Amino acid sequence: MDFNLDKLLNFPNATVESCSIIDEVSYFQIRWLNEKIECPICGKNTTKLHQEHKSLIRDLSVFGREVYLKISHRRFYCTSCQHYVSEQLDFIDWRRRQTRRYQEYIYERVKVTNVLQVSREENLTLISGSKYL
Ligand SMILES: [Zn+2]
Repeated sequence: MDFNLDKLLNFPNATVESCSIIDEVSYFQIRWLNEKIECPICGKNTTKLHQEHKSLIRDLSVFGREVYLKISHRRFYCTSCQHYVSEQLDFIDWRRRQTRRYQEYIYERVKVTNVLQVSREENLTLISGSKYL
């Protein structure tokens, strides 16, 4: 979409397609630009997209508003080793639905304050088993 937004996002092979603000929360629609990935099992490239799962991923706030990325988690079929593989991204924790940079930011804040205060300020839900408890 916008070159400067893509620069701010700073994800490889991704572009910001649109932005919306609902109840003072910013939502960015992200589209992947790469159509192939390297298979994590055999190392060969695959272009056979098997399925896409839409996810809402929390990221760092921008201009005082919470930010969520609407982003798809893709699974490919590797024709070389005949396995279904998930796209591996070291900047997103799919299980926790957060970017790594947001996790690092929360971790650093918790070190100088306390978990309850950061949870309240960031509007985070405390879930049993969360690493922030
Ligand atoms: Zn493979």
